[in-house]
Formats: sequence, C-alpha cells, structure tokens
Amino acid sequence: MFDIGVNLTSTQFAKDRRQVVKRARDAGVTGILITGTNALESQQAQVLAGENEGFCWSTAGVHPHHASEWSAETEATLRRLASQPQVVAIGECGLDFNRNISAPEQQAYAFDAQLALAAELQFPVFLHCRDAHSRFMAILKPRMAQLKGGVIHCFTGTLEELNDCLAAGLYIGITGWVCDERRGLELRALLPHIPLDRLLLETDAPYLLPRDMRPRPVSRRNEPCFLPHIVQQVASWRGEETEMLAQKTAENTRRLFQL
Ligand SMILES: [Zn+2]
Repeated sequence: MFDIGVNLTSTQFAKDRRQVVKRARDAGVTGILITGTNALESQQAQVLAGENEGFCWSTAGVHPHHASEWSAETEATLRRLASQPQVVAIGECGLDFNRNISAPEQQAYAFDAQLALAAELQFPVFLHCRDAHSRFMAILKPRMAQLKGGVIHCFTGTLEELNDCLAAGLYIGITGWVCDERRGLELRALLPHIPLDRLLLETDAPYLLPRDMRPRPVSRRNEPCFLPHIVQQVASWRGEETEMLAQKTAENTRRLFQL
C-alpha cells in the first residue's frame, strides 16, 4: 500500500522523522509521496525523499494557502526541483476558498501557472480543492488535455463533484477524513462510486488522524503507519478485500507517477 500524501516536512515530525518512516515500513507501507507545499518545503521534501531512495518520492509546488508567495523565482525553483529524480509531480496546487489565506485571484494565478508548468514538463499534478469546485474545474479543464494526469488529493466533495473529477480523468485521493463519524459519512457513501483503477489512498499526516482507530493513539498526530487502518476501512465500505485494495491502489499510484 502506498501513501500518496505525507507532509513529512512538517515541524510536527522534526524530532522523529526517521522513526516515522521506519514505522511506516514496518506497518507494510511500500511507498510514500512527500507533499511539497511551497518553494522551501518542496526543496526539503526532495531532500527527504533522497534520503529514503526507493521508498519516498516528493512533489514540488505551491499550496493555495501559499499562493501569495508565487513569483518567477518560485517557478524557477520548481523547475529545478522537477529535474531531480525524486520529484514526480507538480503540486500540491489548486484552490482553497474555505479560508482564503491567499486572495482568490492570487490562488487562481498560481494554480494556472503550475498547471502550465506541469504541461510543459509533462508531469502529473497533485491537486487540492476546497470549497472552490466550479472555479477549480474552469481552470483545470482547458489544461487537462496537455497534462500527464493528476490526482485530486483529500477529496471531500459531493457525488456531482466526484463525477466531474472522474470525467476530467483525475484520480481520487481518499484520506482518513472518511473515518470521521461526524463529517465523513457523505464521503463514505461515495466510495463505491470511485472506479478501482482511479482510487489512491493517503494519510495526509500529520493531519487528519482517523477518528475510529481503537485503541486511540496517544498523540493526535497522524502518521503514515496508520495507512493500513484507512485501507482496511475503505475496503470494508467498498465491499472489497483489503489485500486486493492495497495492491490495486499502489499499482494506480505507480502508474500515475510513473514510479
Ligand atoms: Zn491539501
């Protein structure tokens, strides 16, 4: 099983990053994609991936929260990172109108610039969309034909939004959000609508600790070693076998990111 979303550069992992990676391996995780969320963290992600060759890869991009940092220099940094063997996707990029930490117009600009870069470099994209579906699709759709595919990570939208993403050719990333008995039920009902060959799984660690783990972990920090729990729950809600789902989603990951 492959964890496509780990924010391993987070300061929450500063003290025990090596152990976190080791625990993931020991738990049966076969690969990790480290998320890059701005120029600096994308560089750190690439370095971390290099230290865990054959197990970790990374993305290079600017998260919509950081869109106000976008500049020609940022683009040059991403371009340079993309020439490194560890970097396998542009992102995470997209739109987040939930909190508008960067202004919507800055978000749209940085998003489209990264799609253009991914198209030019022929890289897949690692996408983030929250409360911005229609604008997101309006920016993505015209670029989609030139792209080498992409995943909408931590999908939490509606059935209609899911169908739009599938029609656009995207893979769908599912996190432990779906394990939340308060806000994950709508997403849980959508799981059977995701074709097996388009599904990817992720922890989004250190965020989104699955709420239904028993016994409850002592810390609220999520870790990639909890991916097996998510795989097991998603498999049961889809009515599939855990082992098969782990294998197919890992194959999907390797296909999309050409690992
Ligand atoms: Zn995200």
